[in-house]
Amino acid sequence: MNDDKLKTSAQNAFTQYLLQKRLRKTPERYAILDKVFDTVEHFSVESLYASLEGEAFHVSKATVYNTVQLLIECGLVRRHQFDNKSAQYERVPGVGNHHHLICTQCGKIKEVKDPELIKVLNGKRYPTFTTDYFVLYVYGVCSRCAKRNRKNKNDNK
Ligand SMILES: [Zn+2]
Ligand SMILES: [Zn+2]
Repeated sequence: MNDDKLKTSAQNAFTQYLLQKRLRKTPERYAILDKVFDTVEHFSVESLYASLEGEAFHVSKATVYNTVQLLIECGLVRRHQFDNKSAQYERVPGVGNHHHLICTQCGKIKEVKDPELIKVLNGKRYPTFTTDYFVLYVYGVCSRCAKRNRKNKNDNK
């Protein structure tokens, strides 16, 4: 599916959700949805708000926050909490399931796809529980930090 189609189907899903919850279909909510689907990388409420402002689209931060929560509830957006940073979000459709390699030293996050593992996890069934999705975080040290660590160690010799 290309990005336009993804966006259209996300808009439809969002409309269904708003109708079902008897919430208003405001242009602000759809503008935020559009922006989310134009963003491939992770974003925070702050960065989403800033990029809307950058396009002279004025909407309150509370509206951005609330709309992102609605998008999570209808399964279009996923929330991440990496360490003590503010919550990060990413769209679900079109991004594909990936997991995150997180450097415990510099906080850098790298996304990796691991189809083999995804297949195993997708096949997992837990009793008395229906899985919607899963998120996997792998903590370790990135190559840059590893290099710096080696250098520091040598310098201290
Ligand atoms: Zn690092
Ligand atoms: Zn991600």
